[in-house]
Amino acid sequence: MDFALTTEQQTMMGELDKLARQQFAPKAFSWNDEVPWPNLRMLADRGYLGLCLPVGVGGAARPVLDGILAAETLAAVCPHTAGFFHAANTGPAGHLARRGSPALHERYLRPVARGELVVGIALTEAQAGSDVSGLAASAETHGDTVVINGTKLYTSHAMVAGVFVVFLRLDGAYGSILVERDAPGLTIGPPDAWMSGERYCTLTFDHCEVPVGNVMVSGSSLRDLMNEYLVERLGNSARAVGVARLALELAEQHIQGRRQFGSRLVDMQGLRWKVADMVMRIEASQLLLYRAAARAGTGVPSLYESSLVKLHASETAKFVTDTAMQLHGALGVSRAMPLEWLYRLARGWTIAGGTVEIHRNIIASHVLRHTHAEAPSPTPRTDLGAGVPTLPGGNG
Ligand SMILES: Cc1cc2nc3c(=O)[nH]c(=O)nc-3n(C[C@H](O)[C@H](O)[C@H](O)COP(=O)(O)OP(=O)(O)OC[C@H]3O[C@@H](n4cnc5c(N)ncnc54)[C@H](O)[C@@H]3O)c2cc1C
Repeated sequence: MDFALTTEQQTMMGELDKLARQQFAPKAFSWNDEVPWPNLRMLADRGYLGLCLPVGVGGAARPVLDGILAAETLAAVCPHTAGFFHAANTGPAGHLARRGSPALHERYLRPVARGELVVGIALTEAQAGSDVSGLAASAETHGDTVVINGTKLYTSHAMVAGVFVVFLRLDGAYGSILVERDAPGLTIGPPDAWMSGERYCTLTFDHCEVPVGNVMVSGSSLRDLMNEYLVERLGNSARAVGVARLALELAEQHIQGRRQFGSRLVDMQGLRWKVADMVMRIEASQLLLYRAAARAGTGVPSLYESSLVKLHASETAKFVTDTAMQLHGALGVSRAMPLEWLYRLARGWTIAGGTVEIHRNIIASHVLRHTHAEAPSPTPRTDLGAGVPTLPGGNG
């Protein structure tokens, strides 16, 4: 098993880290909900914004792993910029790249790669949160037009996205359609805000008409359609790992400098153990993330591996940002410092993109799917004498 990154990947990460620390760090914690357009254009000018997009539209057609490494590197300095980088590569624009027509690529991916267009994704509905089988939004094809009806909740980036990837029922099966922000019949509701300060909107489709050429996936099963969402989970996990690294870096700096009871915090064993726990979780997340991404190639990861990653990385980000705040004392929870924002940002990630409970369900189902009650059970030891219990359906 080779754990080494390629020279090209290491160079890319070095360049992105340098760019982010020099150009993005000064404003990293004061974007609020603005699109960091200048940062996106700087990434575009250096050929990074379309890293995983097709070469024909100005992308670099790099595999998912490169997109993951880039998103993590950016998030470790400027999580806000990393969110938009993810949207352009491993997020909704990635679905457009994999499943959209050349005409859609030309019209929409080219501006994404230039840092001029943001793509949003609309999946969640009132009766379809964790349970996507409850999807009710539907579309029907009428000649050259597709007519969409339904309501989508919690669409992130809806205030700024120029187009939306919409997952819905389509002509009796499942599919995905690209819908322009100004499509007739689409209403974008007033914004509400996550605890991170990022905003989301409700999208209402009332006989919304789009050209049939905007259909990206049709005639699909729900399972196959949802597999398209798995890269998104890796991208979000990369952001989570980056945020955890950033929180750890801030904590390390703080405990090196702060003294209490006559010694530096960094010399107190109990606090050093907290650092060890943070590092262990971050490295474990990275291993799960890189393995899933490497195996995805330029396609999509497995459901099982993407759930392992998303579960571990989102809980890691929550744990590490929380622990880093604790190591800072009052400064950690002060609004004057970035840590409390990192915590508020990471907190939503145990819910977004599939909750941690749903990922545990997926992992358990995968592992237990071949376990049958009639499977041979281990022979009990007899050398312990009396008292070996007989378990129901089990060892006797
Ligand atoms: C920051 C953020 C960004 C988001 N961005 C978008 C976006 O851009 N586009 C979009 O479409 N959606 C987005 N969402 C919505 C997100 O996908 C949903 O919130 C998520 O799928 C959970 O659905 P729900 O909120 O309806 O919770 P529910 O499904 O109602 O779940 C409530 C609770 O019940 C638990 N639960 C449900 N079923 C089970 C079960 N079978 N076993 C165990 N526990 C269970 C859940 O884990 C959870 O704890 C975003 C959410 C957040 C927080």
